[in-house]
Amino acid sequence: MPPYKARSESLILKVLRILNKRMKLTEDDQRYYQNQEKGFQGEVQFDVLTEKLQCSCHILNDLQLEHNKSSFQLDSSLLFQETYSLFDVKNFEGEYVYGDEYFKTPSGRDIQNPLDQLKRSKLLLSNLLQSLGSKLTVEAYVIFINPQFTLYQTPPDLPFILPTKLDSFMKKIDQKPSLLNKSHVNLADKLISLHQTVPPKIQLPNYSYETLKKGVTCCNCDSFSVTIVGKKLICGKCGGEELVTVAVMRNVEEFKLLFPERKITTNVIHEWCGVVDSRKRISRVLGKNLKITGLGQWAFYK
Ligand SMILES: [Zn+2]
Repeated sequence: MPPYKARSESLILKVLRILNKRMKLTEDDQRYYQNQEKGFQGEVQFDVLTEKLQCSCHILNDLQLEHNKSSFQLDSSLLFQETYSLFDVKNFEGEYVYGDEYFKTPSGRDIQNPLDQLKRSKLLLSNLLQSLGSKLTVEAYVIFINPQFTLYQTPPDLPFILPTKLDSFMKKIDQKPSLLNKSHVNLADKLISLHQTVPPKIQLPNYSYETLKKGVTCCNCDSFSVTIVGKKLICGKCGGEELVTVAVMRNVEEFKLLFPERKITTNVIHEWCGVVDSRKRISRVLGKNLKITGLGQWAFYK
């Protein structure tokens, strides 16, 4: 069944994707970006599994919530008649040895044991549900989605679902007796209304307008080698085509994500897009797609 709340890339991942093509990220930032990208891909893979479920439940993907001034994030959750199951999805890869604090690997790239984080989310969610008058029992699991992940010496009683157990786990979930009514829809709607689109701690690389690479990139392959032919933007690398209007607006969206405080003017977007020669053309595209405020040289778009 389709999710009740669908997943989209986090703000951080969206910004990192843009920065990655427009500047050289430091090694640390590059690793951070790759981890974010990998984490997201893992979550999307788990979505494929939850959407196959036949049982009666609401799928709520990617909730950023707060209770008593503490923020917590639920990668994926399933709302059943009696229970609320939350899932922390990990796309770890490689062979690790279990440790209470860290999963250890011979190469020394240890990763933090997600158990404490899971317990914290479970507790905060239980309290939040209680404060909303819900009596659902919270169940919490870490899903290790990557088939290339092995964890040696895992204690048997942990809420960890390792790749080899994932199939049977999903089958078990699908057999959960559950009948949903209006109160479940209300709870789902309430949680969605509490979802914070901007997470509390955004950790981003330093960047500035001046140092970023300007230009429109290909919508298929991110290449800057694009030229305009008539109404189309054509990529010299992959041959991809896109309407200039669409490409410019895509670039405007990137600009807004990177510089939410800056005004969108014809001049700024003309420079930002680079490849479009005519200021008039930029102005026409902006005028068609955004609302103009102010007059003449002081005009900007919203
Ligand atoms: Zn291309």
